[in-house]
Amino acid sequence: MKDETKLVVSGRDPEANFGIVNAPVYHASTILYSSLAELQQRHKERAEGKQVVSYGRMGTPTTWSLEDAVAELEGGYRSQVFPSGLAACAHAMQSFLKAGDHLLMTDSVYGPSRNFCDQVLSRFGIEVTYYDPLIGTGIKDLIRPNTRIVYVESPGSQTFEMQDIPAIADIAHKAGAIVMMDNTWASPLFYKPFDHGVDVSIQAGTKYIVGHSDVMMGIVTTSEEHWSTLQAGANLAGQTAGPDDVYLAQRGLRTLSVRLKQHMENGIRIAEWLKGRDEVHSVLHPALSDHPGHNLWKRDFLGASGLFSFRLKASSKQAVAAFMDDLELFGMGYSWGGYESLVIYADPSSYRTATKWDNTNPLIRLHIGLESTDDLISDLSAGFDRFNAVK
Ligand SMILES: *Cc1c(COP(=O)(O)O)cnc(C)c1O
Repeated sequence: MKDETKLVVSGRDPEANFGIVNAPVYHASTILYSSLAELQQRHKERAEGKQVVSYGRMGTPTTWSLEDAVAELEGGYRSQVFPSGLAACAHAMQSFLKAGDHLLMTDSVYGPSRNFCDQVLSRFGIEVTYYDPLIGTGIKDLIRPNTRIVYVESPGSQTFEMQDIPAIADIAHKAGAIVMMDNTWASPLFYKPFDHGVDVSIQAGTKYIVGHSDVMMGIVTTSEEHWSTLQAGANLAGQTAGPDDVYLAQRGLRTLSVRLKQHMENGIRIAEWLKGRDEVHSVLHPALSDHPGHNLWKRDFLGASGLFSFRLKASSKQAVAAFMDDLELFGMGYSWGGYESLVIYADPSSYRTATKWDNTNPLIRLHIGLESTDDLISDLSAGFDRFNAVK
């Protein structure tokens, strides 16, 4: 089955649900058993890894509807929901780490994931080394006997470096480490992590899977080999997500293919238009042929989402603010992946440690929504007029 079909059929079973198209929303904490024997039987089956209703926190047909669909789309074995993307990142790492372990983390990782490493993992005796996202096979020199996880995110948050994940995975696996990926940018549609050597894939479902800027959601998918470790890590830490949020995420998922294709088309059009502007120093979009990671993107990815950055020519803070403050269609705010366009300023030089980032050319990240690109271009044009007036 192709992905477009999988998006429609996976995780749904109308025949088991009075013919109702969407998965039922079960609100559950207590589960009642008819006998001690049934209670013990269900708990035994659950301990064996079966999808059995035993207690609300351990999952219901509502959570499985989303988890099964995402696992199928990512090409992994099974998935587990978390109450946010960051919770998914944090508990994925925690599930596989113990005191004395070493984690290799890309310097281009999502900022709050970095904070989790620096402020939580460090307190539990786990060593973290940041590496240049462009390191490729050079990762070999940083691997230690106690390296447990090599964590990748491609393209990088804010800065959009593309990583050679198959090359990194090959070296990590030979050294006995696992590869964990934050696959939020591409969504399960445009990158198939398990085809490229990834063992554990993380989605901030908050972004494109939910798609409507109204729910926090995280989902982790693993290969069969690593499933029991991840599931135990999530269950022991009491991780799950609320049924209404799960429902909205599986509802968003059904239209992911049409939304993402439009985000891609709109994003590329805006990126190309920005490239032609005098005010712009560079556009950081891996689908553009002059992006340094374009060949890796073409080799490994099936598409591009609507999120990218561009850098302005050296300019004052006031000029950057003049550009951003009065945009009408671009909301100023964090997160992305909804139907609407967003703009945010970022200064990667303030947090990078393994690599240097020169912030002379201010970096602006755009999420391109589903509006008409003509209207978006008019809005950005007016922004550049304001920018030029105070530059
Ligand atoms: C937003 C984001 C997260 C965190 O997701 P939340 O649901 O906001 O906690 C993780 N990784 C990436 C790449 C993100 O963009």
